[in-house]
Amino acid sequence: MASHPLEIAAKALSLELEGLDLSGRLAVVASLEGKSVFTTSLGIEDQVITAAIATGRHDIEVSTLETGRLFNETVALIDKTEETYGILIRRFHPEQDDIDAYAAKYGLNGFYDSVEARHACCGVRKLKPLARALEGASFWITGLRRGQSGNRAETPFAEADLERGMIKVNPLADWSNEVMAAHVAAENIPVNPLHKRGYPSIGCEPCTRAIKPGEPERAGRWWWENDEKRECGLHVAEAASAIPQSPLPASSIAR
Ligand code: SF4
Repeated sequence: MASHPLEIAAKALSLELEGLDLSGRLAVVASLEGKSVFTTSLGIEDQVITAAIATGRHDIEVSTLETGRLFNETVALIDKTEETYGILIRRFHPEQDDIDAYAAKYGLNGFYDSVEARHACCGVRKLKPLARALEGASFWITGLRRGQSGNRAETPFAEADLERGMIKVNPLADWSNEVMAAHVAAENIPVNPLHKRGYPSIGCEPCTRAIKPGEPERAGRWWWENDEKRECGLHVAEAASAIPQSPLPASSIAR
């Protein structure tokens, strides 16, 4: 049961967003007091949200984590998306000192050797840059969908991220693959060419493979690990505990 003010505010916001379309959901969040940041991985869901932010001119910052290990196709799509919509996508990179320290301890590709080493790499290349991308934000918009994996089956439209001290908004939570594909075609939204080559979920190049027919969408991510709930830590609450929190204005909580 919700008891923290942030949880109460998130629950109310989730109910408010439920009956709206995507642009309506984004408009509501953008109208709230406090900065809204959308972090895009350039996946198909994220392209749908970026297009909606740009065409609706919603006051939402668009950022991406340039890990240094992305596919060339993904990097090219950042530029193409900026050109298509006339927007700026803020790029957040890992610190070179952190990469050097990681390589000295685990080896540059040490993430294949253990879950600990993999989490350490995601920490350096994703979580620390994410903390910078979300600095000062009250609302963090993501492309999470319930259909992406069993782990995400209960994704609400808005949820409290107590570790980061903000509300996470998932405006595509109830979208199916079919609805998304039809929307992308109708709106002519640029997407990563890798999707057509069997990559429904695309992360860093060394940690993503194509999936076989019938496999779950995220089966190609960190495929060598056995944990069914494997994630990079971006959307796992405990992973944020070491990250500086951002204050949420009281007026945002009350809305
Ligand atoms: S997905 Fe792989 S390469 Fe990318 S940050 Fe995580 S472990 Fe490192």
